[in-house]
Amino acid sequence: MLKGANFQKSAPPGLASAALAVLTISSVIFSGALRADESVNARAEAGERQIARPLAREALLEQNDDKAKLVFVLSAPVDAASFVLSGPDRVIVDLPQIDFAIDPEAGKLSKRRLRRSDPQQWSSLIDSFRFGQLGQGKSRIILELNSPARIVRAICDSSGEGTGPRLVIELARTDRASFRAAVESARSARADQAKAAKAEPFEAAAATTSKPVVMIDPGHGGIDSGAMVNGLVEKDLVFDFARMLADKLRADPRFTTVLTRTDDSFIPLSDRVKMARGANAALFVSIHADILSEAADVAGATVYTVSDRASDAEAARVAEKENQSDAQAGIEGAEEASGVSDILFDLTRRETRAYSHVFARTLTNYWKVAGRLNKNPQRSAGFRVLKAPDVPSVLLELGYLSNRKDDASLSSAEWRDKAAGRVAEAIAAFFDSKESPTASIPAEKDWTPVGKVDKDVSNSDGQAPPGAVTGATVGGGRRDVQAGASH
Ligand SMILES: [Zn+2]
Repeated sequence: MLKGANFQKSAPPGLASAALAVLTISSVIFSGALRADESVNARAEAGERQIARPLAREALLEQNDDKAKLVFVLSAPVDAASFVLSGPDRVIVDLPQIDFAIDPEAGKLSKRRLRRSDPQQWSSLIDSFRFGQLGQGKSRIILELNSPARIVRAICDSSGEGTGPRLVIELARTDRASFRAAVESARSARADQAKAAKAEPFEAAAATTSKPVVMIDPGHGGIDSGAMVNGLVEKDLVFDFARMLADKLRADPRFTTVLTRTDDSFIPLSDRVKMARGANAALFVSIHADILSEAADVAGATVYTVSDRASDAEAARVAEKENQSDAQAGIEGAEEASGVSDILFDLTRRETRAYSHVFARTLTNYWKVAGRLNKNPQRSAGFRVLKAPDVPSVLLELGYLSNRKDDASLSSAEWRDKAAGRVAEAIAAFFDSKESPTASIPAEKDWTPVGKVDKDVSNSDGQAPPGAVTGATVGGGRRDVQAGASH
């Protein structure tokens, strides 16, 4: 959903502002009402439109610092399961998959309100809430708490006359010790469930194809919206861009192109990595858009690769933010083990990183023809989504939603189409360049590209125009078998 089709803008005037307006002397502090919008269905792939899922039309919140009641008005009853989580304190409500026809920023309203008034004067139990899909067949609502709370009830109530089914989440303030106990008991219950549930075999969408697989990864999704500003929502924007890019790549018969997500659902970062490895992808490109509210002049696209140490503080900031995705969805996951550290693993990883650098350089060279690049357009940091040791991976931040010019570009379908075209050309050039592989596996440090590109990997104030980017002579290993199969 891009600017033009945005919920706030398509809602009748009055409703959106009414969401902020209600403040009475009683226990009602905030009441939000946001209208259904047909356009939510456009998020789903065309083929999925036929599936009639329950629809959440409105979110209504009443609260003070002791009690809170959050109500979702639904088109059909659903089963809800709820639990509490700490670090930060949260209430999680799991549901079957439903469509939320509600402004994704609806749950941020209380924060905006808090900022405007003096937070010392009054407080509330719920700090903010968010909602969205969690994965195939699942949706989730997350309530961020200002203080420990107990779930009084979280059920679907269909008894109200003329109101239709409603999901009612009622909370009451509790003490820290009770909250901690509830978190622990919920955690052990979930662990038991996980043991009982058989692990689903991972679907390797394109593992059987003989062509190189290019995996395009639209960042965020579902309950994790990513950056949001002025009605632009990162998850929707990057999804739209990724689909445009995939369409262009599919026109090239040399690749098989796969998307990590084909709708607005949440996928944990580790699953994205598993998908890339499972599909034996020859290239993984994660698409994101950044925001830097305190520096509105910072603009342009940046291509990130993975590294153990961040190239600079800004790269570290971006990686930390993008790595928050799982936490945003209320998923507690231990950082994956970094893998066995044997010589073969190290060699593979080094080779993979060299390929990633080559592609990052190629991409920046192509991109600058279509759009702005950040002052330092090639950076690296510990991005979890780029950690497949055997899949060359980059993360493209399309620009800054916090910058006026970038914002205008990203909002323009014409610009996105052009930019996606440049990325597709860069991907094609990357595979073309593998036609002259060398047998040796380069060491990461002393590797220098051969060809008409600049020598310093970290400096891409490059001179080479598109078409001249032929620097990829890193080679050897199984990638060449894959690349070779395409020609
Ligand atoms: Zn992102």
